[in-house]
Amino acid sequence: MQNKLNLLKDLQEIDQEISSIEVTRQGYLSELAAFEADAARVQEMLDQLMDEVSLLQQSEAQLQQDLLKERDNVARVEARLPGIQTQKEYVAVLKEIDVAKKANKEIEDQVQEKLQEIAALEEDRQEKESEMAAILENSEARGTELNVLLAESEAVLLKRTQTREAVAEELPASLLRKYHTLFKRRGGLALAQARNGACLGCNMQLPPQQYNKLLRVKELQTCPHCNRILYVEQEA
Ligand SMILES: [Zn+2]
Repeated sequence: MQNKLNLLKDLQEIDQEISSIEVTRQGYLSELAAFEADAARVQEMLDQLMDEVSLLQQSEAQLQQDLLKERDNVARVEARLPGIQTQKEYVAVLKEIDVAKKANKEIEDQVQEKLQEIAALEEDRQEKESEMAAILENSEARGTELNVLLAESEAVLLKRTQTREAVAEELPASLLRKYHTLFKRRGGLALAQARNGACLGCNMQLPPQQYNKLLRVKELQTCPHCNRILYVEQEA
């Protein structure tokens, strides 16, 4: 029985180490995923900004064309001035020119507005580009580190898993199953030490009779409170 308990203790130690390596690896992977999520988030904003800029540029180009037409219009009407005979016609043409010039001014204002909007968006875009560059720089440096750490921990994990298999092979299947279930249900502590008549897994007092039996190490004992497999440290 002592031999089995020793094997179980070894197994638990390895399993705890494996769990902790897995938690650490999960952390590395989350860190990598966070970089990717960050980059994707900023890229999405960049794409949106570029779409908006492109739309504004299109409407600005349209306005510039309208402006050219309006200017042509003014020039055409103005060209009629020298040939005018009557005062009435003169006033009418001047009015026409005035209206066309106002329309021109309106379009020019709209063009200015669009150009300002574009400039503001371009500024935003510059900001996002820098943000993106910083993310990429960070993720490149830290990403390299993380990939090294992942590879190293994977190698350790593989070794521990092999050792674990070797230890597990020496234990009877039913005991192994019991151990596994407890390890999962009891937060990675399937085996608990018993000391001074108490289970150190749950800190509850054990029945004195059971504690005495434990000291003789004849059969497998479990804690009546937390179900963990009990062992006592052998006196040196
Ligand atoms: Zn207990």
